[in-house]
Amino acid sequence: MKIVLLGPPGAGKGTQAKSISNRYSIPHISTGDIFRKNISEGTPLGIEAKGYIDKGQLVPDEVTINMVKDRLTWEDCKNGYLLDGFPRTVAQAEALEGFLADRNEKLDTALSIEVPSSFILERMTGRRVCPSCGASYHVKFNPPTKAGVCDVCGSDIVQRKDDTEETVSERLEVYERQTQPLIDFYNNKNLLSTVDGTKAINEVFESICSILGSVK
Ligand code: ADP
Ligand code: AMP
Repeated sequence: MKIVLLGPPGAGKGTQAKSISNRYSIPHISTGDIFRKNISEGTPLGIEAKGYIDKGQLVPDEVTINMVKDRLTWEDCKNGYLLDGFPRTVAQAEALEGFLADRNEKLDTALSIEVPSSFILERMTGRRVCPSCGASYHVKFNPPTKAGVCDVCGSDIVQRKDDTEETVSERLEVYERQTQPLIDFYNNKNLLSTVDGTKAINEVFESICSILGSVK
C-alpha cells in the first residue's frame, strides 16, 4: 500500500502514521523527521534545511524531492510506504507522480486529516517529541505516562524549536498557500480520502483503518 498523508501542521499526521505503519507493516517516511535527523547529525543537508525549518518555511523542492526519491528506492519500500509531510507543493506531487509512473506503480490514496485552524495552535504549542525515537506527545491530549519522559525509549522529550506561536502562524500560512492546493490535486485524480481529525486519537485511527480497508 502506498499512502500520502495530507493535512495542516498539527493535524495528527505523525501520530496516526506511527499506528498505520505498525498495522500495515509499511515504513513511515516523514520528511520532517529526515530533516531533523540530518540537522542533529550536522550533515550538509541538515545545515541547508535548518534555516528554512526554523523560520517555518519550506525547504526548496529540488532538495526535498531528491531526498525523497532516494529514500523510496530503499529495500523496505518494496511493499509500499506511508509518506508524512510529503508532498507539500504541487511540484513535489508531480515529481512523486513521475517517480511512480516510471516504475509502473501508483498511489493507493492521499488521506487528508481535516482539522480547522482553530485547533492547530493548541495542538502544536503543546506538542512534545522524543529526539531519539521520534514519538510525539501532547502535554494535554496525549501525555506520556511519566511527565517529560518518552514511553517508547525512556529519553527526555522536548519541544520542537518550530512549535512556538510565531513560527506556527507562519507554517499555517505556508500550508494554506503551498500545500492546500494538493487537496484539489488529488481529488481531481480520484485519489483523495478524508477523515475528521478533530476526534480523539484512537477514533481518528479507527476511521483511517476503515478507509484503508476499502482502498485496496
Ligand atoms: P503533524 O504530524 O500533523 O504535524 P502530530 O501528529 O505531531 O501532527 O500532532 C500534533 C500534536 O497534536 C501532537 O502533540 C499530538 O500528540 C496531538 N494530537 C494528534 N492527534 C490528536 C487528536 N486527534 N486529538 C488531540 N491531540 C492530537
Ligand atoms: P514536519 O515535521 O512535517 O512538521 O516538518 C517540519 C519542517 O520541515 C517544515 O516546516 C518544513 O520546513 C520542512 N519540511 C518537511 N517536509 C517538507 C517538504 N515536503 N517540503 C519542504 N519542506 C519540508
